[in-house]
Amino acid sequence: MTAAPTDGVLVDRYGRVARDLRVSLTDKCNLRCTYCMPAEGLPWLAGPQLLGDDEIVRLVRVAVERLGVTEVRFTGGEPLIRPGLVGIVAAVAALAPRPRISLTTNGLGLDRLARVLRDAGLDRVNVSLDTVDRDRFATLTRRDRLADVLAGLAGAASAGLTPVKINSVLMRGVNEDEAPTLLRFALDHGYQLRFIEQMPLDAQHGWDRGTMVTADEILAALGARFTLTPDPARRGAAPAETWLVDGGPATVGVIASVTRPFCGDCDRTRLTADGQVRACLFATEESDLRGALRAGADDAELARRWRTAMWGKRAGHGIDDPTFLQPTRPMSAIGG
Ligand code: SAM
Repeated sequence: MTAAPTDGVLVDRYGRVARDLRVSLTDKCNLRCTYCMPAEGLPWLAGPQLLGDDEIVRLVRVAVERLGVTEVRFTGGEPLIRPGLVGIVAAVAALAPRPRISLTTNGLGLDRLARVLRDAGLDRVNVSLDTVDRDRFATLTRRDRLADVLAGLAGAASAGLTPVKINSVLMRGVNEDEAPTLLRFALDHGYQLRFIEQMPLDAQHGWDRGTMVTADEILAALGARFTLTPDPARRGAAPAETWLVDGGPATVGVIASVTRPFCGDCDRTRLTADGQVRACLFATEESDLRGALRAGADDAELARRWRTAMWGKRAGHGIDDPTFLQPTRPMSAIGG
């Protein structure tokens, strides 16, 4: 492999430039979605393994100031359960140039935190919601908390964390019939809905290509109740393909990572809660920034390591390749 550039942005061998940084703030979660982790949870990262708040802010600063990152999304695990979240958002919002800051959350507690996060500098949220049926929600997440998520969504909208986006994963025999209901709910409340194809990233390794609900099926189910027309807006590096609903302006998106991969336009780089850079959700290798940072590396050295990690990014995730290997870490530990 040729050598990574010694300065400038996070470019890879295929010319893609990563400007969108996903930062996992914790591997823990207060839901137990059946397709994500087992009922008893997972062996969590120990305290000293986790980056401290200052360490996270330092690495994000290196990414913004030296590596051309313009978007920072906090995720997890569940980012709202990280005690230092508001301070981290405020520190990142104070960086120059100021990145856009968003959060992917299950929405629990967001009703109480939305305004303070907005005041700290958060721009937007994505809330995960796979069903609007209370019993189904309790079964799917193993917690009877649908009302709290709905309150979180409403809190985010009233705090101005807009557009409020909803991410939904449909699963065969679980909620595959709910696409039109979820879209009706989103339209009625002014939220932007995006369906995400289920990916092989579950801790239990139960994903099955043969039974996953595909983008084509989702679009067919929506098409039976709504008129969908391709959204003329430019997609760019956005993972979702979008459609105007009933002539617009409302849209619905589908992130078809499995059946219509968009790796050629990927502009993401990831930092795990224990300070590992991942070039891709499906990467089988990580680059340790925490060790370097704690050993006294300066910003230039951290940036150099980050560039090298991204230079090695593969052309595609290869889910459909017979040699595909599911990453050792599940989605909750990588940062979804
Ligand atoms: N706890 C936060 C949340 O619920 O949004 C952030 C982390 S969660 C892992 C991020 C997103 O990943 C959620 O929308 C969840 O539905 C999605 N997700 C988890 N496992 C998935 C899988 N195997 N395939 C596709 N999406 C998945």
